[in-house]
Amino acid sequence: VDYSKSNLFGHPTGLFILFLTEMWERFSYYGMRALLVLYMTTETLGDVRGPGLGWTSQEALALYGWYTMLVYVMSIPGGMIADKLVGQKKAVLLGAIILCLGHGVLVLTDTWAFYTGLGLVILGVGLLKPNISTMVGGLYPQGDIRRDKGFSIFYIGINTGSLLATMVIGFVVAQWGWHAGFGLAGIAMVLGLVVYLWGQKYLTHVGNFEVKQANTVDESSYGHLFKNLLKSQNQLLFTVILSGLSIYGWYTLGWGFGLLFFFLTIITALMMMIYKELTSQQDKDRFMVLLLSFIMVIIFWGAFEQAGGLMNLYTDTKTDRMLLGWEVPTVMFQSLNAGFIILFATVVAGYWAKRKLKGSEASSLFKMATGIIIMGFGFLFMVFAAMEFEKSGTSSMIWLVLAYLFHTIGELCLSPVALSFITKLSPVKYASLMMGVYFAATGLGNKVAGIVGESASNLGEYSVFLGILVFTIIIGSLFIMLLKPLKRLTHGAEDNEK
Ligand code: GLN
Repeated sequence: VDYSKSNLFGHPTGLFILFLTEMWERFSYYGMRALLVLYMTTETLGDVRGPGLGWTSQEALALYGWYTMLVYVMSIPGGMIADKLVGQKKAVLLGAIILCLGHGVLVLTDTWAFYTGLGLVILGVGLLKPNISTMVGGLYPQGDIRRDKGFSIFYIGINTGSLLATMVIGFVVAQWGWHAGFGLAGIAMVLGLVVYLWGQKYLTHVGNFEVKQANTVDESSYGHLFKNLLKSQNQLLFTVILSGLSIYGWYTLGWGFGLLFFFLTIITALMMMIYKELTSQQDKDRFMVLLLSFIMVIIFWGAFEQAGGLMNLYTDTKTDRMLLGWEVPTVMFQSLNAGFIILFATVVAGYWAKRKLKGSEASSLFKMATGIIIMGFGFLFMVFAAMEFEKSGTSSMIWLVLAYLFHTIGELCLSPVALSFITKLSPVKYASLMMGVYFAATGLGNKVAGIVGESASNLGEYSVFLGILVFTIIIGSLFIMLLKPLKRLTHGAEDNEK
């Protein structure tokens, strides 16, 4: 039997294998992430959950920021390894194994185990996350209208994992301590690996390392690209200037900013090299529009990711969380996003599909720009919350619920759509790499979110929320105004989808 042709609920069965694998991977990721800052800041003695690391919250947040950025930035080498060495399917397998090891090591209590575990998780996510996403795209032929919907279903898997983890892991830690929590994340990842291995028969046709790809290695190998960079004076000059700025940033703003600029330099140089390498105007234009859409991505996550930081603290200290005589725990607000995703993912995807069939504008770029505006609009409720707090010393939690609702609808317009868009527009040879660059952009967004969030201690929440509201709505509108020329650059990649 050829399992690769089998369908389930109108989609290739492979989608549900990837759904379950990613669900367990995200369970382990978000479960562990939920514990991380708490574990680092807990005292080294006398806590019922066992000793923590006893760090200050500033130290913990700094490591947290780097960690959440690096997991996504590592998607770039993760994507390259898939494109050039093993294909996406094996890269996912390798990533899953490394993740099992990483979470396994975190069960141990030594300090070396803590750092080694985090390092392995960073490598594992880098190999798994971008490549499993590209594989979802590979399940659908070009022009298949089910692709966007497939990504929405996949996105439900992501959030089911995240929701389950954030609901369960707190109890496990309260009962059996930190390292049991890390262990639970490990068990989840083993389940993900088992599902993936079992489901291989449904994935025979996707994510394979193409021999054809290997034959063309000469012109598109990274070594070759690098030689071209050395030959092109403009590119080289530009790269040198950016590197200079990184060093300057390192000295004036601190090593953190230096490192950030340095990452940006590498990404920019890589993108220039690939652009040069593309032969047809169509490929070049599509590549450009993809990069431009990543600006939206960075801004989106830079605002959205206030959720775990500034909005989390706001919930904790400035919100009246009493509901029918019970105080709703702060962490529960972190589950709203995933819950809303599960409720609304198919509604939003269905809405766009219907609009598209009617022929009214529903290109990915339009959806993404709309997503930024809707998400930004959610900050209006945070502005109301801050106003109420300033007047009465507390604020209603309904504002948070509304803000998270709009954030989630915005996320559904942008995030699954962006994943799908990348698989439509990337040059085949660099498909996994471009997915990696996308996740790196979201990682940079996370870092931006941290920087913006920190500024609240000087500017006050009201100004920060209002600033985000205005800025995101302007950027979203700008992209909507530029829609026509941008769409032209896609060379009809989304026309006539059936
Ligand atoms: N919550 C989504 C996920 O975990 C999006 C993350 C991202 O794009 N940075 O997949």
